[in-house]
Amino acid sequence: MITKEEYEMALRIVKLYEEQVEIESDFQSENRELAAIYVGRGLDLTLARQVADKLMAHNALEAHARDELGISEITTAKPLQAASASACSFAAGAALPLVVTALAPTAHLIVFVIASALVALALLGSLAAKAGGAKILPSVFRITFWSVLAMGVTAGVGALFGTGA
Ligand SMILES: [Zn+2]
Repeated sequence: MITKEEYEMALRIVKLYEEQVEIESDFQSENRELAAIYVGRGLDLTLARQVADKLMAHNALEAHARDELGISEITTAKPLQAASASACSFAAGAALPLVVTALAPTAHLIVFVIASALVALALLGSLAAKAGGAKILPSVFRITFWSVLAMGVTAGVGALFGTGA
């Protein structure tokens, strides 16, 4: 079985993954969202927008992880971080579930989305293994598995309460 730390890491990866998908699919709203967070912390709107622009240009996912999700230690999600070094592959991985959502038959949508997320996470995992050395490969596989499971649970709960996945 997995440790509590591994489980929490998997949840963080799912959140970061969702955040990355949001950034890829709607950069402008994510930019406004971040600026609003800084306004809430006391910056005036002009400065908040400048800070949001600069931070998102520097590393959009890192900015959202830290200031929206409260994940200050993005290093605890090393596989994702290592994978995001290869921005093109990462964008492709993040886009995959979106493409599948658009193309898959609605009856089995969740199955298709989870399957494509599995492929995307496996892709990220293999990139991470390449960047971080082969020894992390077993943990990447475990984390991929539990991330997908967590996503499945999230989707299942969403469907159950009719809030959408
Ligand atoms: Zn965000």
